[in-house]
Amino acid sequence: MKIWKKYSQYLLSGEWHIHTSYTDGESSVDDYCKRAVELGIPLIVFTEHVRHNLSYDFNAYMDDIDNAREKYDLIILSGCEAKVLPDGTLDVDDDILKQVDYPIFAFHSFPRDIDIYLDALYDVLRNPYVNTWAHPGVFLKRSGLYLSEKRLYNLFKNLNDNDTLIEQNMKYNAPPEAWLNITRRCRVNYVRGSDCHRVGDLKLVS
Ligand SMILES: [Zn+2]
Ligand SMILES: [Zn+2]
Repeated sequence: MKIWKKYSQYLLSGEWHIHTSYTDGESSVDDYCKRAVELGIPLIVFTEHVRHNLSYDFNAYMDDIDNAREKYDLIILSGCEAKVLPDGTLDVDDDILKQVDYPIFAFHSFPRDIDIYLDALYDVLRNPYVNTWAHPGVFLKRSGLYLSEKRLYNLFKNLNDNDTLIEQNMKYNAPPEAWLNITRRCRVNYVRGSDCHRVGDLKLVS
C-alpha cells in the first residue's frame, strides 16, 4: 500500500513537498519541523532531490528525519523527488526508493517530444514506489507541448489505477488550468505540495 493512503486525511492540510539545505533549500529538517508545529500543520514530508550519483549524505538526511520524529509532536515522513529519465526510469537508486516513505517523480530536463514524454510517464506510473506526480504539466507548458483531452483522460485513469496522486503546486501553478475539469471528472486525488525551499514557504491551510 502506498503511504499516502494511510494519511489521506492530511493530503491537503499537510505539506508534502519540501527541500532542505542538503540540496537547493535553505532550511534544515529541524527548522521546518519547528515551524510546522508553530503553525499547526499536522504533517510534513521531506522530498529531497535525488540522483543516481548523490551529492550529499543520504543517511545523514534520514537521521535528521528520525531525530526530528523523536523531538516534535508532528507526523514527519521521509521522501525524495526523483527525475524522470527519457528511458522511463527514474534517476535514483532502488534502495533509496525502498528506504523512504514517499517517493515522488517530476519532469525537469527532458527531450521536447510528446511521445517520449508519454511513454516515460506511463513507465514511471508502473513503478510501485512512486506516490505522486510533482508539479504536473509544468515541463509541457515550458516546452510548448500539449496533451489532448483524450490523452489526459487515459492518463488520469492510469494514475488512479496505480493509486498515484497529482500535486497541487501553487508555486508553479500546477496542474495547468486546462486540466482541472478533467481531473475533477476523473476524480483524481490531489495532494498539496508547495515545493518549499525555506521555512517561510510553509503555510497553514484551514
Ligand atoms: Zn521539481
Ligand atoms: Zn521539488
